[in-house]
Parts: sequence; structure tokens; C-alpha cells
Amino acid sequence: MLGLMQDYPLLTNTILDHGALNHGERELVTRSVEGPIRRSTLADLRSRSLKVAKALELEGVKLGDRIATMAWNTERHMEAWFGIMGNGAICHTLNPRLFAEQLDYIVNHAEDDIMFVDLTFMPIVEALKDRFSTVRKYIVLTDAEHMPETSLPGAVAYEDWIGAVDDDFQWKTFDENTAAALCYTSGTTGNPKGVLYSHRSNVLHGLTVNQPDVFGLTSEDVILAIVPMFHANAWALTYAVPAAGAKMIMPGAGMDGESIYELLDSEKVTATAAVPTVWLGLLQYLEETGKKLPYLNRVVVGGAACPPMMIRKFELDYGVELIHGWGMTEMSPVGSVGKMKHATSSLDREAQLKLKEKQGRSPYMVEMKIVDDDGGDLPRDGSSFGHLLVKGPAVSKGYYRIDEQVLTDDGWFDTGDIATIDPLGFMQITDRDKDVIKSGGEWISSIEIENVAVGCQGVTEAAVIGLPHPKWSERPLLIVVRDPGSEISAEEILAYLDGKIAKWWMPDDVQFVDEIPHTATGKIQKMDLRDTFKDYVFKT
Ligand code: AMP
Repeated sequence: MLGLMQDYPLLTNTILDHGALNHGERELVTRSVEGPIRRSTLADLRSRSLKVAKALELEGVKLGDRIATMAWNTERHMEAWFGIMGNGAICHTLNPRLFAEQLDYIVNHAEDDIMFVDLTFMPIVEALKDRFSTVRKYIVLTDAEHMPETSLPGAVAYEDWIGAVDDDFQWKTFDENTAAALCYTSGTTGNPKGVLYSHRSNVLHGLTVNQPDVFGLTSEDVILAIVPMFHANAWALTYAVPAAGAKMIMPGAGMDGESIYELLDSEKVTATAAVPTVWLGLLQYLEETGKKLPYLNRVVVGGAACPPMMIRKFELDYGVELIHGWGMTEMSPVGSVGKMKHATSSLDREAQLKLKEKQGRSPYMVEMKIVDDDGGDLPRDGSSFGHLLVKGPAVSKGYYRIDEQVLTDDGWFDTGDIATIDPLGFMQITDRDKDVIKSGGEWISSIEIENVAVGCQGVTEAAVIGLPHPKWSERPLLIVVRDPGSEISAEEILAYLDGKIAKWWMPDDVQFVDEIPHTATGKIQKMDLRDTFKDYVFKT
């Protein structure tokens, strides 16, 4: 027997409609690519998104067409985002930091029809336009006054384009499982793979991250959404903010410490989210200027492991709650957050700070478990390492136009991460499975050694890789970028690590480099490092 409840498809426009009707006055503030701060409201966002949907209709865009965006977080990007989805098309966010070959592959693989592009990224797109064989029109996210000369086919200034229509448009309706957004994820090898979100998964994920023990946004909040919309839905803030009726601040291209601080201060931001490198820039700026963060009450850090030093600085020096999160593009992307819980409230401050180094516990709608190499379940004892598998309504079950089985036979998605889970449910990532160091049959966590090493004065960045060893099969090599002007030695760094990690985890050597290679999403390219050091031989 079926229940007698209404058939109410979970479409992304329902979030926008709710935000505009109930919190229409709430502001969206953008540091524009052109320079000045621009202000609009949730009511404007809905009205202008309807115009985008209508203008796309006039362009002949149909259900399921892929419409690309290469843009910073701005109110115009938000309008394009909801307009594309509300028209039934698929919003394909492009990461401008990818290599030209990857962008070429992605745009052609997705067969993008129209592309919205920010002024900043016009040189990238102009250089690739002849290779983007399916894109017939480019909409430049600016107004007539700032529209440059361009060779892009069908190029039009966004404000002129939506200025030609009114907002008298009905959102399209369709099944909630219809595709809404596409985001390619680039591993270390092979072509990028398209993660295809549905309306249902986006709406549910927006609600997931809005739970009080996740980001817990309310209508009183002012959110600085630094994490890019081209990086997995801006961690679902694009949905969570209008659903909560919060005020949203978008930094455009200004990602440096000073620009971020200016917005935190002038807009009295209460919550914000970004990867660790952004926070390093802000912390450095605060230290240089002696400025404080009087309005901010929580900061979400994810995308890469949060260094312990960062947790202490935010919590102890600036009185800001640090929420360490983990996730991946295939998970929409939030998988876990390290909010304290009832059982941890009796822990002393030191123990709580230590616990925050873990990647946190799963919210409702994400299931996780760890398994051994044969797929057997491992205990949640905080010490057993295993492959981290996940399940949920906003977790991928396949990749766009790739015919391969992605899930295990019993329906779990293998994250490719290796982790422990403790009895309170706190998960800790120890490595990517490809980066695990196996020494004498035991696993060494490269991430944990890196975390400790960056706490050493004189060390800017650290990476640990496993290299062959005749006796132990593999041993860790620590690779370090020194602070400018620092002459810290290998012995001094090893002495610093001594006692902070297990004896048998101690790197066999330290090598210094000028730069550690990163992927387009800011992760350390361990494969490149292993290649650089392939002829290195341990003296031990
Ligand atoms: P992406 O799909 O580009 O967001 O990459 C997802 C991967 O980033 C995960 O599978 C992890 O390996 C890594 N990652 C994300 N957040 C964290 C974190 N807090 N600590 C360690 N690794 C992380």
C-alpha cells in the first residue's frame, strides 16, 4: 500500500522559490570580476534565473542539453546555475584550473551547447574555441560597458542577453531523478570523469549539509562561499543558502588573504568554507596585520587534510569553531564533518582539538564503512585501516557516458581513500589507496606524517611518498618545501618528528624541493613526486 502524500518532485527550483518567497530581501553580495562590490537579493536571484531559463528556451535549449559555465562564485553565476537547471538543461561547471587538454576533452565529451564565461577566463576559452566543436554560443558574464572585443562565436554580454527577456516563465517540471548538473573529476591518471548530479540528489544534499550538526545554516547566518561552484556544487552551499534564507557573500576572483578578510569584516560573515590553502593565506594576513575575526563563528575546512596548526589557530587564537570536513565530487560532495557531539563534550579541550584532526562523522544520508582488501568489514575501533566505502542518495552510481560498473556488488561506492573509524563514528583519512606506504606488511599514513611535519617551523609544505626498500619493501621519504629564507636541515626536521609519530613511521630521509606539484583541485601530485624520486636510493 502506498502512502497518501503529495507527489512533489525535489527539483532545485523549489529551493530557490522557497528562498525568494520567504527570504526575498536577503542579500547576495559579490566582489565582481569587474571590481566593485555588487548587491542583489534572493528575490532578484529568482527573477533573473527565470530570465536565464526563458532566454535559454529562446535559444532552443532542450531538456538534458549541457550548458557549460566557466566562472567564479558570483551572483551572475548563481543566476545562470538555477536558470539552466530550471529550464531542464544540465549545468556543467568547468574548472578553469584544468590543463587545456583536459578542458578540451571535457567540453567535447559533454558536448556542451552554450557556454557562460567570466571575463577572467576569456583568454583560456578563446585559445580553445576551435577545439570546442559543439559550443555554438558564448555568453560573457558582464555588461555592455565591460564587454571586450572577442573572437568567440555568437558572443554576447550576459546583461544584454537576459535584458532582452522578462521573467514571465514557468520552471519546467520533470521527474526529480532528471540530471541537473555535471562536474568532471580528474584523477591522477586517465581522462576526467563526469559526475552527473540529479535534481533530487542536489536538493537532498542541500538539506543534508543544513543539518545542525553539519554546516547548520540559519536565516541569521552570513555565509562567505569561497569554495568554488566549479568544485562540486560549492559544497552544496548553492542550495543550502537559499533553503535557509541566509545571506550569501561571493568572493569572485579575490582569493588572497586581504580580500577574504575584507569581506569577512565588512559583511560581518558568520560562517565560511574553503580548502586549507585559502586559510593559510588568511591566517598569514591576520598575523601580519594583527587583525581579528570578531563576527566569524565557524569555518569549514575540507578538500585536503586540515593541518593541526590551523585548527589551533582558528580555535585558540581567533575563537572560531573549526569544522574539518571530508568529501569528494562523487558525493555531491560532503561525506563527513567533525562537529563535536554529546559524547565528546566531556573531553578536555586538548582532546577535542586532537579529535578535530579527524575528518569527522557521517551526517544522515551518508553511510560509511571500512573494509579489508577482500571486502570484509573492519571494526570501528579507531585503529583498523581499510578502504572507505560510502552509500547515500547523493553518492554516484556511475560516470557520465562511461560504461563501467562503479559500485560493489552490494551497492557501495569505493572512495579510493584509506581510513579508520573510531567507536564514536569519527573517521580519519590516512591515505589515498594509491599512496599508501606498506612497510614490513604494515601501513604507514603519509597524511599523518605530513600533518606533523608542517607544524615544524621552517617547513612550508610537506609530502610523504613510499619508495622501494630491500628489507621493508617500502619506506617513507619526506619531501619538504622550506619557508623562504629558512635553512632548516633534514636532521632538525627528523628531530622535530621524533616522539610525535610512531618510531617505525619515521621517514628514512628528508629531501628538499622548491615546489611540490599540485593537481587542479589543489591536491599533492604524489605520482609526479614518485616519478621525480624514482632513482632515489635510501642510504639505510
Ligand atoms: P575531489 O573529488 O577533488 O573533491 O577529491 C576528493 C578527495 O580529496 C577525497 O577522496 C580525499 O582523498 C581528498 N580529501 C577531501 N577532503 C579531505 C580531508 N579533509 N582530508 C584528507 N583528504 C581529503
